[in-house]
Amino acid sequence: MDLHDEAKAAQDAARGEIQSCSSLEDVDAVRIKYLGRKGEITFLLRKLGKVPPEQRKEVGGLLNEIKVEIGSLIESRKQDLKQQKYASGASAEALDVTLPGRTFKRGRFNPTLKMMDDLVQIFVGMGFSSVEGPEIETEYNNFDALNFPPWHPSRDDHDSFYVGDGYVLRTHTSPAQIRVMKSQPPPVRVVVPGRCHRRDTPDASHLMSFYQIEGLYVDFDVSMADLKGTLAAIAHEIFGEQTRIRFRPHYFPFTEPSTELDISCLVCEGKGCRLCKHSGWLEVLGCGMVHPNVFEHVGYDPRKVTGFAFGMGVERIATLKLGIGDIRLLYENDIRLLSQF
Ligand SMILES: [Zn+2]
Repeated sequence: MDLHDEAKAAQDAARGEIQSCSSLEDVDAVRIKYLGRKGEITFLLRKLGKVPPEQRKEVGGLLNEIKVEIGSLIESRKQDLKQQKYASGASAEALDVTLPGRTFKRGRFNPTLKMMDDLVQIFVGMGFSSVEGPEIETEYNNFDALNFPPWHPSRDDHDSFYVGDGYVLRTHTSPAQIRVMKSQPPPVRVVVPGRCHRRDTPDASHLMSFYQIEGLYVDFDVSMADLKGTLAAIAHEIFGEQTRIRFRPHYFPFTEPSTELDISCLVCEGKGCRLCKHSGWLEVLGCGMVHPNVFEHVGYDPRKVTGFAFGMGVERIATLKLGIGDIRLLYENDIRLLSQF
């Protein structure tokens, strides 16, 4: 095979190899193989001196053409590979601007806390101010000052959580009444929202920890009619204008007389259904006129001042208002339930 044929063979081989390169490293290897210092084309060019002079010009021209061609094929293959690499990288990181954006789930207040806020706002609108008391109370504030007799069953440690001598997790928000009255002369018009604790076994209508809102209005001529008017207004505000109310005699140590307030059933409007146990009425809260002994304990003169107090379970109001059958559902953190409110 003469130099001409060797050149043609190298040209064909180089073309094929360049075309089948799949990486920049491959291309570089082909470049060295043919155009490097010990490369095939370089080798053939060195052999040009042995070619007869009459053929030298033709073969020399051919080798130079091949060298240039291989050089430019290598360059263009490099560019192709770079472009492919860029294109595949770009599509992997591609941003599809037509996709809908990611939405963030909005947090919500637990229905109990929302209800408590709503209730406080209603009372504030009526001229009450909102105060808070500690969850760990003295036994005195929680029981004695509220006229609980020493033998009262709720003092039993089966019913209350005692935390050291003379202290108890408050079983109601009423001890805050004592704190407020001790700190200021009448008139008093406050509501106390807050958490309370009792040794109850949780069931559909009881929890060990629950929220109450307590209300207290003391002045020089407060009567049962004020109590009735205030609570009727609140019932209408919470449950709607069509709601009827009734008072039932009851007993609380700290009020006299004491009553419970019922509202007409929200489902059957008084006709009788399962929710109201066919009575047509739903029990909502306890209330009454402040017991004279309570005034004595805080240094108010019971011959001069009168007042009313009421207390409601916030979970009770929330479950009635929202139609939730079981009070425990409020705290199970089931997003399917909570997200409905
Ligand atoms: Zn009913």
